[in-house]
Amino acid sequence: MSILNPDEIERATVIDATDRMVIPAFVDSHTHLVFAGTREDEFEMRLKGLSYEEIARKGGGILNSAKKLQTASEDELFESALVRLNDAVAMGTGTIEIKSGYGLNPESELKMLRAIKKLKEHSDATIMATFLGAHALPPEYKLNADKYVDKMITDVLPVIAEEGLADFVDAFCEKGYFSINQTLRLLEASEKIGLRAKVHVNQFNSLGDLPKLVSHGALSVDHLEVMSNEDFIALSGSHTIATLLPACSLFIHIPYAPARKMIDENIAIALASDFNPGSSPTANMQLVQSLACIQMKLTPAEAFNASTINAAAAMMLSHVLGSITRKKKANLLITKKIPSLGYIAYNFGHNHIENVFLGGRKQ
Ligand SMILES: [Zn+2]
Repeated sequence: MSILNPDEIERATVIDATDRMVIPAFVDSHTHLVFAGTREDEFEMRLKGLSYEEIARKGGGILNSAKKLQTASEDELFESALVRLNDAVAMGTGTIEIKSGYGLNPESELKMLRAIKKLKEHSDATIMATFLGAHALPPEYKLNADKYVDKMITDVLPVIAEEGLADFVDAFCEKGYFSINQTLRLLEASEKIGLRAKVHVNQFNSLGDLPKLVSHGALSVDHLEVMSNEDFIALSGSHTIATLLPACSLFIHIPYAPARKMIDENIAIALASDFNPGSSPTANMQLVQSLACIQMKLTPAEAFNASTINAAAAMMLSHVLGSITRKKKANLLITKKIPSLGYIAYNFGHNHIENVFLGGRKQ
C-alpha cells in the first residue's frame, strides 16, 4: 500500500469513522430487479387466503409480470430498475446479480438483458446479468415446453453471444415449470457461449434434480427450501454454492431452507434477496441477514459471510469482491454508530449503513 505524502493528506477527504465499522459492501447474488410493475394487488389476494399457486392459475404470478413487461419499453425498464438499484445501494449492496425471465419471448428477454446492460453502464455497482431463459411457460407453449426451450436456444443465445448480454444462465427446474432434461439442454447450449449455470431448484419439491445439477457443475443452486438426504449428500463438499432466499420464505409463507444443517454438513451457502415483485419485494440485504439468523439459526457472522464473500463466490467474483483486502475492488460500507457487527442482524428492519463507497467512489 502506498503511503500518502503531506500534500496528498492535505487534499484528501477525511471521513470520521469513530465508533463505526468499515465492512465490505453486500453482494446480492440472486435478484429479478428489472421488472415492469409491482404486484401489491396479488399481495392482498394472498392475505385474503389465496395461495401463490392459485394466484398463478388466475393469470397472476410470473405471467402477470410478463404481460406488463412485454409492453414496457427498454428505457422504461431501465429507468424503473435504476431507482430500485440505487435504493439497494443505499442499503449497502455493492454487487448485484440481475436476471431476465419475465420476457417469455425472445424479443422481450433481449429487452430485459439490454436494460441490465444499460444499468451496468450507469451504476458504480458491480452488476452481473443472468439469462433466465426458462422461467415460466407462456400460454401458447403450455403443452410444449421443449419447443419453448428450443426457441430460447436458437433465437436468444446467438444475440447474447454477439452483444455480450449475459454472464450466467438460469432455469426454474420445478414441477409444472421446466424438467431437468429441459433445464440441462438450456444449460449445455448456454455453456457453449461461456455462461455458467445458476439454477432455481427445490423451491416446492425435491425431485432428484439437485444432484444432477451439482454433478453437471452448476455454479450455484438457488432456493433449496425442500431438501432430501440425497440432496444434502450431493452438495456436501461440492463446489456448488447453495444460495438461500429467506425473504421469499417470509413473504410467501413457505419453509426456510435448512441452512444450519447445510453449514454443519460442509455445504457453502450464500444469502440473497431474490428481489422480485411477486415473491420477495425487498432488496434489503441487512433484513435478509436478520431473517437468516432469526429463522435459519445462522450466527450474525455466518450471515454476514454468506452475504459477502460466499455470495461473491456464487458469481465467481470472490477474487475481486466480498472482503476488504489488498488488490480487491474498494466496495466498502461505513456503518452508523453501532456496538458490534452482530448488531446489524439483531436490530432488524433498520438501515445501519451511513456511507457507501463503490470502486472507491462515495455514492
Ligand atoms: Zn428467483
